[in-house]
Amino acid sequence: MQEGRVIKVSGPLVMAENMGHAAIQDICYVGELGVIGEIIEMRKDVASIQVYEETAGIGPGEVVKTTGEALSVELGPGIVSQMFDGIQRPLDKFQTLTQSNFLSRGVQLPALDHQKKWWFEAALEIGTVVSAGDVVGIVEETKVLTHKIMVPNGVSGTITKIHSGEFNITETVYVLATEEGEKSFSMLQKWPVRRGRPVKEKLNPEAPMITGQRVIDTFFPVVKGGAAAVPGPFGAGKTVVQHQIAKWADVDLVVYVGCGERGNEMTDVLNEFPELIDPKTGESLMERTILIANTSNMPVAAREASIYTGITIAEYFRDMGYNVAIMADSTSRWAEALREMSGRLEEMPGDEGYPAYLGSRLAEYYERAGRVVALGSDGREGSITAISAVSPSGGDTSEPVTQNTLRVVKVFWGLSANLAQQRHFPSIDWLSSYSLYSNEVGLYLDQQMQVSWSDLVTEGMKILQEESQLSEIVRLVGIDSLSEKDRLTLEVAKSIREDYLQQNAFDDVDTFTSREKQFKMLNNILTFYSESRKALDLGAYLKEIMEGTTDLRDKVARSKYLPEAEIEKLSDIHQSIPIILQEIVAKGGMTND
Ligand code: ADP
Ligand code: MG
Repeated sequence: MQEGRVIKVSGPLVMAENMGHAAIQDICYVGELGVIGEIIEMRKDVASIQVYEETAGIGPGEVVKTTGEALSVELGPGIVSQMFDGIQRPLDKFQTLTQSNFLSRGVQLPALDHQKKWWFEAALEIGTVVSAGDVVGIVEETKVLTHKIMVPNGVSGTITKIHSGEFNITETVYVLATEEGEKSFSMLQKWPVRRGRPVKEKLNPEAPMITGQRVIDTFFPVVKGGAAAVPGPFGAGKTVVQHQIAKWADVDLVVYVGCGERGNEMTDVLNEFPELIDPKTGESLMERTILIANTSNMPVAAREASIYTGITIAEYFRDMGYNVAIMADSTSRWAEALREMSGRLEEMPGDEGYPAYLGSRLAEYYERAGRVVALGSDGREGSITAISAVSPSGGDTSEPVTQNTLRVVKVFWGLSANLAQQRHFPSIDWLSSYSLYSNEVGLYLDQQMQVSWSDLVTEGMKILQEESQLSEIVRLVGIDSLSEKDRLTLEVAKSIREDYLQQNAFDDVDTFTSREKQFKMLNNILTFYSESRKALDLGAYLKEIMEGTTDLRDKVARSKYLPEAEIEKLSDIHQSIPIILQEIVAKGGMTND
């Protein structure tokens, strides 16, 4: 190891000279304590090092040792259900809960448990020719996740030794005869976080990622392999939306990156997720979750690294053929870390002090999401769906982080402070939000569910848009100027908002709605609309309709609290709607004569 010398320390940035042997992105150990840093700039033999631990007490003259390796993560069995910091050091659950000193500085801990033994089940036999991505064996890592042991990138050869048995992740599980001779492989792989893992082919996303959140799945869907942003001011519900998706999305694995936000939110996840049962598997949600925590009280530079650590882990499981979702809360805090480092480097500031490369860094991150065919001969398909909170100060979405994000993501869930104040949750503004996947998801669900899902969605949105125009008229000239049909539209729009869009994350039933139940709920509201319009045409008064359907509308309003096991009751409601309205028409005709 060659050594350099510290010449200057400025917060998380350390400058060192005599570093001519080193290169950008190298990992260094700085000072007597040996705190971890990464070279982010080289000028002649002076390296600028972004340090991932506190630099207090480190001064000029101290040594800097270079490893020649890039910032990497450990990939292998034992990674699921864990909580790591931004550079994948294991965070002891107890330490985090007690808010103690996290990790002592300069301590070099392996990310994964190197001692624990796992049962490795060989999938291939001696003599098989393999190349990168081929699955040589599996480990049942958690009750719900099978960890596939893949041939590392750039490797190919013929298996000369392999057998099932108990191994820790550093012991040899198979041997290959390669062009450069015999090579032994363990279950552990390393991958540099700033480089995307290679794939065989990128595919267009097609299937929706069902989140169980009605406003999202129905009106602003995201696809498996897509990307979505949740911008909103403080308290609007960004974290709750992210938690809800982490809990309920129909994916195989969730990587949750808590990035620069308050520590207690990660504690909430840690306390809550083990208790929550995944409806699909009947097992605890932690069995399919990995947490990366770099909360506001932890070193700022590691926050910059945390989203790369997260997405690299996501890619590894995508390569096994899984659907993975990665949440980042919040990318604004990540961008602030980037801005702080850029400022200390005295780079030319761009918009609002952010570095000029903010946009390209964000784009690079989201490009690592997507649906792919993984390396390996079996053509496994996997996906990464990236969902990020953006927290613009004052909720002003014209700021650079939101704008650069919206340039690359195709779904925008705009949270509204106004709606949050009215306790309309999720406070996703249905008039300004969008999903560029709406059409393909509509077509997909029409086919899969054999119903006219996309027609319902179009109709529902049309009513909400009409409501906004009609409300404007009411504001200007009063409700009396509206026809009976327009007033009906307002009633139905209110029902869509209150009975459908509003969804209580903290109610045991309402927290998740299957797509089948979503269809039935929305169909009931819209059938009430069409049957009521018919009734108006046949001479009924709106007043009669509303009075005669109190009971029906009450049932529609309470549908969200109907357990999934009882959703056939929604079909009963559906059948009753035309009958009830026909009765009103019949009766109304008599009283009017
Ligand atoms: P942000 O992350 O945008 O600052 P949070 O996600 O922490 O905001 O939400 C703030 C509060 O809003 C929550 O503590 C909760 O009381 C309420 N809230 C947000 N979304 C919902 C929801 N879907 N159901 C019920 N309450 C919600
Ligand atoms: Mg939050």
